Amino acid sequence: MKGLVLTAEWDPRPNYRVTEWERTNGKAITGSSVWRKPKLSLETLSEPRLSPRDVLIKPKACGVCGSDVHFLETDDQGYMLYPGLTRFPVIIGHEFSGEVVEAGREAGDLRPGDMVTCEEMIWCGECTPCRNGYPNQCQRLEEIGFTINGAQAEYLAVGAKYCWKINALVERYGSTDRAYEAGALCEPTSVSYNAMFTRAQGFKPGGHVVVFGTGPIGFAAIALARAAGAAKIIAFEVSSMRQELARKVGADVVLNPLDLERQRTKPRDAIMELTEGEGAAMLVEAAGAPPRTMPEMEASMAVGGKIVIIGRASDRAQVYLEHFQTHAAQIYGAQGHSGYGNFPNVIRLMAAGRIDLTPIITSRFALDQSVEAVKKATKREDGKIMIRA
Ligand SMILES: [Zn+2]
Ligand SMILES: [Zn+2]
Repeated sequence: MKGLVLTAEWDPRPNYRVTEWERTNGKAITGSSVWRKPKLSLETLSEPRLSPRDVLIKPKACGVCGSDVHFLETDDQGYMLYPGLTRFPVIIGHEFSGEVVEAGREAGDLRPGDMVTCEEMIWCGECTPCRNGYPNQCQRLEEIGFTINGAQAEYLAVGAKYCWKINALVERYGSTDRAYEAGALCEPTSVSYNAMFTRAQGFKPGGHVVVFGTGPIGFAAIALARAAGAAKIIAFEVSSMRQELARKVGADVVLNPLDLERQRTKPRDAIMELTEGEGAAMLVEAAGAPPRTMPEMEASMAVGGKIVIIGRASDRAQVYLEHFQTHAAQIYGAQGHSGYGNFPNVIRLMAAGRIDLTPIITSRFALDQSVEAVKKATKREDGKIMIRA
Protein backbone atom coordinates (compact mmCIF):
# COMPACT_ATOMS: atom_id res chain seq x y z
CA MET A 1 0.00 0.00 0.00
CA LYS A 2 0.99 3.64 -0.38
CA GLY A 3 1.70 5.87 2.61
CA LEU A 4 3.04 9.38 3.19
CA VAL A 5 6.17 8.82 5.26
CA LEU A 6 8.13 11.37 7.24
CA THR A 7 11.76 10.47 7.91
CA ALA A 8 14.31 12.48 9.91
CA GLU A 9 17.76 11.98 11.40
CA TRP A 10 18.12 11.34 15.15
CA ASP A 11 20.71 14.01 15.96
CA PRO A 12 20.10 15.55 19.41
CA ARG A 13 21.19 19.17 19.87
CA PRO A 14 24.43 19.40 21.89
CA ASN A 15 22.59 20.96 24.86
CA TYR A 16 19.71 18.45 24.86
CA ARG A 17 19.93 15.63 27.41
CA VAL A 18 18.49 12.48 25.84
CA THR A 19 16.84 10.40 28.54
CA GLU A 20 17.21 6.64 28.86
CA TRP A 21 13.50 6.32 28.02
CA GLU A 22 13.92 8.31 24.80
CA ARG A 23 16.93 6.23 23.76
CA THR A 24 15.30 2.85 24.36
CA ASN A 25 11.96 3.82 22.80
CA GLY A 26 13.43 5.82 19.91
CA LYS A 27 10.92 8.52 20.82
CA ALA A 28 11.83 12.17 21.27
CA ILE A 29 9.87 14.05 23.93
CA THR A 30 10.95 17.39 22.41
CA GLY A 31 11.02 16.61 18.69
CA SER A 32 12.50 19.99 17.75
CA SER A 33 15.60 19.26 19.84
CA VAL A 34 16.30 15.85 18.31
CA TRP A 35 15.07 15.42 14.72
CA ARG A 36 17.03 16.91 11.88
CA LYS A 37 16.70 17.09 8.09
CA PRO A 38 13.07 15.93 7.81
CA LYS A 39 11.93 14.51 4.48
CA LEU A 40 8.49 13.65 3.24
CA SER A 41 7.81 11.05 0.54
CA LEU A 42 5.08 8.78 -0.72
CA GLU A 43 6.30 5.23 -0.22
CA THR A 44 5.12 1.71 -0.86
CA LEU A 45 4.80 -0.26 2.37
CA SER A 46 3.27 -3.51 3.51
CA GLU A 47 -0.31 -3.38 4.81
CA PRO A 48 -0.67 -3.05 8.59
CA ARG A 49 -1.20 -6.24 10.62
CA LEU A 50 -4.43 -6.49 12.56
CA SER A 51 -4.47 -7.40 16.26
CA PRO A 52 -7.68 -8.95 17.67
CA ARG A 53 -8.82 -5.66 19.19
CA ASP A 54 -8.06 -3.58 16.07
CA VAL A 55 -10.03 -2.55 13.07
CA LEU A 56 -8.54 -2.03 9.63
CA ILE A 57 -9.63 1.33 8.26
CA LYS A 58 -9.54 2.68 4.74
CA PRO A 59 -9.13 6.46 5.27
CA LYS A 60 -11.56 8.50 3.18
CA ALA A 61 -10.62 12.00 4.37
CA CYS A 62 -7.57 13.17 6.30
CA GLY A 63 -6.77 16.77 7.16
CA VAL A 64 -3.29 18.27 6.93
CA CYS A 65 -2.55 19.69 10.39
CA GLY A 66 -0.28 22.52 11.53
CA SER A 67 1.84 19.85 13.23
CA ASP A 68 2.41 18.13 9.87
CA VAL A 69 3.67 21.46 8.54
CA HIS A 70 5.96 21.86 11.55
CA PHE A 71 7.41 18.39 10.91
CA LEU A 72 8.61 19.58 7.54
CA GLU A 73 9.71 23.09 8.44
CA THR A 74 13.14 23.52 10.02
CA ASP A 75 15.16 26.15 11.85
CA ASP A 76 18.46 27.47 10.50
CA GLN A 77 20.29 24.39 11.84
CA GLY A 78 17.97 21.97 10.09
CA TYR A 79 15.99 20.89 13.17
CA MET A 80 12.26 20.39 12.70
CA LEU A 81 9.98 22.98 14.28
CA TYR A 82 7.48 20.53 15.84
CA PRO A 83 8.24 20.52 19.59
CA GLY A 84 6.29 17.43 20.74
CA LEU A 85 6.46 13.66 21.15
CA THR A 86 7.65 11.99 17.93
CA ARG A 87 9.20 8.82 16.53
CA PHE A 88 10.29 8.61 12.91
CA PRO A 89 9.97 7.27 10.31
CA VAL A 90 6.19 7.38 10.54
CA ILE A 91 3.20 7.64 8.21
CA ILE A 92 1.71 11.02 9.09
CA GLY A 93 -1.98 11.99 9.27
CA HIS A 94 -4.12 12.09 12.40
CA GLU A 95 -7.31 14.05 11.59
CA PHE A 96 -9.25 11.47 9.67
CA SER A 97 -12.33 9.44 8.99
CA GLY A 98 -12.71 6.26 7.04
CA GLU A 99 -14.49 3.01 6.42
CA VAL A 100 -13.94 -0.09 8.52
CA VAL A 101 -12.90 -2.83 6.09
CA GLU A 102 -12.01 -5.54 8.58
CA ALA A 103 -12.66 -5.99 12.31
CA GLY A 104 -10.59 -8.11 14.70
CA ARG A 105 -12.23 -10.89 16.76
CA GLU A 106 -12.42 -8.64 19.84
CA ALA A 107 -13.16 -5.33 18.12
CA GLY A 108 -16.46 -4.72 19.90
CA ASP A 109 -19.44 -3.78 17.79
CA LEU A 110 -17.54 -2.33 14.82
CA ARG A 111 -18.24 -4.08 11.52
CA PRO A 112 -16.99 -3.74 7.95
CA GLY A 113 -18.83 -0.86 6.28
CA ASP A 114 -19.04 1.27 9.44
CA MET A 115 -18.00 4.90 9.00
CA VAL A 116 -15.69 6.04 11.79
CA THR A 117 -13.44 8.80 13.01
CA CYS A 118 -10.68 8.14 15.54
CA GLU A 119 -8.95 9.63 18.50
CA GLU A 120 -5.32 10.43 17.80
CA MET A 121 -4.18 9.94 21.41
CA ILE A 122 -3.55 6.25 22.01
CA TRP A 123 -3.92 6.21 25.80
CA CYS A 124 -3.09 2.97 27.59
CA GLY A 125 -5.87 2.93 30.20
CA GLU A 126 -3.50 1.38 32.75
CA CYS A 127 -0.99 4.02 33.88
CA THR A 128 -1.74 6.20 36.91
CA PRO A 129 -2.99 9.30 34.98
CA CYS A 130 -5.23 7.08 32.78
CA ARG A 131 -6.62 5.25 35.82
CA ASN A 132 -7.26 8.57 37.52
CA GLY A 133 -9.30 9.91 34.60
CA TYR A 134 -6.62 11.77 32.64
CA PRO A 135 -6.29 9.84 29.35
CA ASN A 136 -4.82 12.91 27.62
CA GLN A 137 -1.97 12.86 30.13
CA CYS A 138 -1.23 9.12 29.63
CA GLN A 139 2.34 8.22 30.55
CA ARG A 140 2.63 5.62 27.78
CA LEU A 141 0.98 7.75 25.15
CA GLU A 142 1.33 6.85 21.50
CA GLU A 143 0.04 9.30 18.92
CA ILE A 144 -1.34 8.35 15.52
CA GLY A 145 0.73 10.09 12.85
CA PHE A 146 3.37 11.18 15.41
CA THR A 147 4.78 8.02 17.01
CA ILE A 148 2.78 5.30 15.20
CA ASN A 149 1.55 5.10 11.62
CA GLY A 150 -1.21 7.49 10.62
CA ALA A 151 -3.91 7.94 8.03
CA GLN A 152 -2.19 9.51 5.01
CA ALA A 153 -2.17 6.00 3.61
CA GLU A 154 -4.40 3.47 1.91
CA TYR A 155 -4.96 1.59 5.19
CA LEU A 156 -4.29 1.85 8.89
CA ALA A 157 -4.99 -0.40 11.86
CA VAL A 158 -6.39 1.22 15.03
CA GLY A 159 -7.65 -0.16 18.34
CA ALA A 160 -11.45 -0.31 18.15
CA LYS A 161 -11.72 1.50 21.48
CA TYR A 162 -10.33 4.71 19.88
CA CYS A 163 -12.93 4.75 17.08
CA TRP A 164 -16.29 6.52 17.00
CA LYS A 165 -19.03 5.86 14.48
CA ILE A 166 -20.01 8.79 12.27
CA ASN A 167 -22.79 7.09 10.28
CA ALA A 168 -25.14 9.71 11.81
CA LEU A 169 -23.42 12.46 9.81
CA VAL A 170 -24.64 11.11 6.46
CA GLU A 171 -28.19 12.34 6.98
CA ARG A 172 -27.03 15.85 7.93
CA TYR A 173 -24.51 16.19 5.13
CA GLY A 174 -26.53 14.42 2.45
CA SER A 175 -23.75 12.16 1.17
CA THR A 176 -21.11 9.81 2.58
CA ASP A 177 -18.54 11.91 0.76
CA ARG A 178 -19.34 15.09 2.71
CA ALA A 179 -19.94 13.14 5.91
CA TYR A 180 -16.39 11.78 5.73
CA GLU A 181 -15.03 15.32 5.40
CA ALA A 182 -17.01 16.48 8.43
CA GLY A 183 -15.86 13.32 10.22
CA ALA A 184 -12.21 14.19 9.60
CA LEU A 185 -12.82 17.51 11.41
CA CYS A 186 -13.98 15.78 14.61
CA GLU A 187 -10.42 15.42 15.93
CA PRO A 188 -9.42 19.13 15.91
CA THR A 189 -12.96 20.10 17.00
CA SER A 190 -12.74 17.71 19.95
CA VAL A 191 -9.46 19.38 21.00
CA SER A 192 -11.32 22.68 21.37
CA TYR A 193 -14.32 20.99 23.00
CA ASN A 194 -12.08 19.23 25.52
CA ALA A 195 -10.35 22.50 26.42
CA MET A 196 -13.41 24.77 26.62
CA PHE A 197 -16.06 22.46 28.04
CA THR A 198 -14.35 19.53 29.68
CA ARG A 199 -11.29 21.19 31.19
CA ALA A 200 -12.65 24.73 31.70
CA GLN A 201 -16.28 23.62 32.22
CA GLY A 202 -17.65 26.11 29.68
CA PHE A 203 -19.20 29.54 30.15
CA LYS A 204 -22.73 30.60 30.89
CA PRO A 205 -24.92 31.33 27.82
CA GLY A 206 -24.81 35.09 27.34
CA GLY A 207 -21.12 35.44 28.13
CA HIS A 208 -18.75 36.97 25.60
CA VAL A 209 -16.07 34.72 24.10
CA VAL A 210 -12.74 35.77 22.57
CA VAL A 211 -10.58 33.55 20.37
CA PHE A 212 -6.94 34.39 19.65
CA GLY A 213 -5.71 32.73 16.46
CA THR A 214 -8.06 31.22 13.92
CA GLY A 215 -6.48 28.11 12.55
CA PRO A 216 -8.66 24.99 12.67
CA ILE A 217 -8.59 24.92 16.49
CA GLY A 218 -9.73 28.55 16.62
CA PHE A 219 -12.45 27.93 14.02
CA ALA A 220 -13.76 25.04 16.11
CA ALA A 221 -13.65 27.21 19.25
CA ILE A 222 -15.75 29.86 17.48
CA ALA A 223 -18.32 27.34 16.22
CA LEU A 224 -18.57 25.71 19.65
CA ALA A 225 -18.91 29.09 21.39
CA ARG A 226 -21.79 29.92 19.06
CA ALA A 227 -23.47 26.56 19.73
CA ALA A 228 -23.05 27.04 23.48
CA GLY A 229 -24.83 30.40 23.47
CA ALA A 230 -22.05 33.00 23.52
CA ALA A 231 -23.29 36.58 23.30
CA LYS A 232 -20.54 38.18 21.23
CA ILE A 233 -17.71 36.17 19.66
CA ILE A 234 -14.60 38.21 18.99
CA ALA A 235 -11.62 36.74 17.10
CA PHE A 236 -8.08 37.98 16.44
CA GLU A 237 -6.28 36.81 13.32
CA VAL A 238 -3.64 38.24 10.99
CA SER A 239 -4.43 36.28 7.79
CA SER A 240 -7.22 37.89 5.76
CA MET A 241 -8.29 34.52 4.31
CA ARG A 242 -8.67 33.10 7.81
CA GLN A 243 -10.48 36.24 9.02
CA GLU A 244 -13.09 35.54 6.35
CA LEU A 245 -13.43 31.88 7.42
CA ALA A 246 -13.69 32.90 11.08
CA ARG A 247 -16.77 34.99 10.15
CA LYS A 248 -18.19 32.05 8.18
CA VAL A 249 -18.06 29.70 11.18
CA GLY A 250 -19.65 32.20 13.55
CA ALA A 251 -17.38 35.04 14.73
CA ASP A 252 -19.20 38.38 15.12
CA VAL A 253 -16.13 40.58 15.04
CA VAL A 254 -12.75 39.61 13.57
CA LEU A 255 -9.83 41.96 14.13
CA ASN A 256 -6.28 41.99 12.88
CA PRO A 257 -3.91 42.64 15.82
CA LEU A 258 -1.41 44.21 13.40
CA ASP A 259 -4.02 46.77 12.29
CA LEU A 260 -4.68 47.58 15.95
CA GLU A 261 -0.95 48.06 16.50
CA ARG A 262 -0.80 50.52 13.61
CA GLN A 263 -3.65 52.43 15.27
CA ARG A 264 -1.64 52.38 18.53
CA THR A 265 -4.28 50.35 20.28
CA LYS A 266 -4.39 46.79 21.58
CA PRO A 267 -6.67 43.73 21.51
CA ARG A 268 -7.50 44.35 25.20
CA ASP A 269 -8.87 47.82 24.35
CA ALA A 270 -10.97 46.43 21.50
CA ILE A 271 -12.36 43.65 23.71
CA MET A 272 -13.26 46.04 26.54
CA GLU A 273 -14.96 48.40 24.10
CA LEU A 274 -16.90 45.63 22.33
CA THR A 275 -18.04 44.18 25.68
CA GLU A 276 -19.06 47.56 27.13
CA GLY A 277 -16.35 47.41 29.72
CA GLU A 278 -17.39 44.02 31.10
CA GLY A 279 -14.76 41.80 29.52
CA ALA A 280 -15.02 38.25 28.21
CA ALA A 281 -16.34 35.22 30.08
CA MET A 282 -13.95 32.96 28.19
CA LEU A 283 -10.75 33.71 26.27
CA VAL A 284 -9.21 30.99 24.12
CA GLU A 285 -5.51 30.96 23.28
CA ALA A 286 -5.28 29.16 19.92
CA ALA A 287 -2.48 31.29 18.46
CA GLY A 288 0.43 29.57 20.19
CA ALA A 289 1.78 33.01 21.11
CA PRO A 290 1.20 33.32 24.88
CA PRO A 291 3.94 35.96 25.48
CA ARG A 292 1.83 38.28 23.29
CA THR A 293 -1.69 37.04 23.99
CA MET A 294 -1.50 36.50 27.76
CA PRO A 295 -1.21 40.21 28.68
CA GLU A 296 -4.17 40.95 26.39
CA MET A 297 -6.31 38.14 27.80
CA GLU A 298 -5.65 38.87 31.45
CA ALA A 299 -6.54 42.54 30.93
CA SER A 300 -9.86 41.76 29.27
CA MET A 301 -11.42 39.04 31.44
CA ALA A 302 -14.86 39.46 32.93
CA VAL A 303 -15.21 38.80 36.64
CA GLY A 304 -15.19 35.01 36.91
CA GLY A 305 -13.45 34.86 33.52
CA LYS A 306 -11.65 31.83 32.17
CA ILE A 307 -8.52 31.68 30.04
CA VAL A 308 -8.14 28.46 28.08
CA ILE A 309 -4.70 27.51 26.75
CA ILE A 310 -4.79 25.27 23.66
CA GLY A 311 -2.07 26.68 21.35
CA ARG A 312 1.36 25.15 21.91
CA ALA A 313 4.46 27.24 22.55
CA SER A 314 7.82 26.65 24.13
CA ASP A 315 8.07 30.27 25.39
CA ARG A 316 7.24 31.50 28.86
CA ALA A 317 4.53 34.12 29.28
CA GLN A 318 4.30 36.73 31.99
CA VAL A 319 1.20 36.61 34.13
CA TYR A 320 0.00 39.38 36.44
CA LEU A 321 -1.60 37.26 39.14
CA GLU A 322 -3.25 40.23 40.86
CA HIS A 323 -5.77 40.30 37.96
CA PHE A 324 -6.74 36.72 38.69
CA GLN A 325 -7.42 37.59 42.32
CA THR A 326 -9.39 40.75 41.62
CA HIS A 327 -11.42 39.00 38.88
CA ALA A 328 -11.87 35.59 40.55
CA ALA A 329 -10.42 34.30 37.30
CA GLN A 330 -8.79 31.09 36.23
CA ILE A 331 -6.36 29.68 33.65
CA TYR A 332 -6.98 26.19 32.25
CA GLY A 333 -4.32 24.17 30.46
CA ALA A 334 -5.57 21.55 28.04
CA GLN A 335 -4.19 19.08 25.53
CA GLY A 336 -5.75 16.28 23.58
CA HIS A 337 -9.31 15.23 23.01
CA SER A 338 -9.86 11.81 24.57
CA GLY A 339 -12.35 10.83 27.22
CA TYR A 340 -15.25 12.65 28.94
CA GLY A 341 -17.68 12.29 26.01
CA ASN A 342 -15.70 14.78 23.91
CA PHE A 343 -15.83 12.88 20.61
CA PRO A 344 -19.44 11.65 20.81
CA ASN A 345 -20.66 15.10 21.85
CA VAL A 346 -18.86 16.74 18.91
CA ILE A 347 -20.28 14.13 16.50
CA ARG A 348 -23.80 14.75 17.86
CA LEU A 349 -23.38 18.54 17.53
CA MET A 350 -22.37 18.03 13.88
CA ALA A 351 -25.19 15.56 13.21
CA ALA A 352 -27.69 18.00 14.74
CA GLY A 353 -26.38 20.84 12.57
CA ARG A 354 -25.41 22.95 15.63
CA ILE A 355 -21.86 23.19 14.34
CA ASP A 356 -20.56 22.90 10.79
CA LEU A 357 -16.83 23.26 10.23
CA THR A 358 -16.81 22.08 6.61
CA PRO A 359 -16.60 25.66 5.22
CA ILE A 360 -12.98 25.77 6.47
CA ILE A 361 -11.94 23.12 3.90
CA THR A 362 -10.34 25.12 1.10
CA SER A 363 -8.29 22.53 -0.85
CA ARG A 364 -8.53 18.84 -1.65
CA PHE A 365 -5.80 16.49 -2.87
CA ALA A 366 -5.52 12.77 -3.66
CA LEU A 367 -3.05 10.66 -1.67
CA ASP A 368 -0.82 10.59 -4.76
CA GLN A 369 -0.42 14.38 -4.41
CA SER A 370 -0.06 14.38 -0.63
CA VAL A 371 3.56 15.66 -0.66
CA GLU A 372 2.36 18.68 -2.68
CA ALA A 373 -0.57 19.06 -0.26
CA VAL A 374 1.70 19.42 2.80
CA LYS A 375 3.97 21.77 0.85
CA LYS A 376 0.93 23.90 -0.01
CA ALA A 377 0.03 23.96 3.68
CA THR A 378 3.42 25.56 4.45
CA LYS A 379 2.24 28.61 2.44
CA ARG A 380 -0.56 29.15 4.99
CA GLU A 381 -3.05 30.23 2.37
CA ASP A 382 -5.64 27.58 3.29
CA GLY A 383 -8.20 26.97 6.02
CA LYS A 384 -7.90 23.17 5.96
CA ILE A 385 -6.42 20.97 3.28
CA MET A 386 -7.99 17.53 2.94
CA ILE A 387 -6.48 14.41 1.43
CA ARG A 388 -9.36 12.52 -0.11
CA ALA A 389 -9.89 8.94 -1.23
ZN1 LIG B 1 -3.74 18.06 14.37
ZN1 LIG C 1 -1.96 5.62 30.24
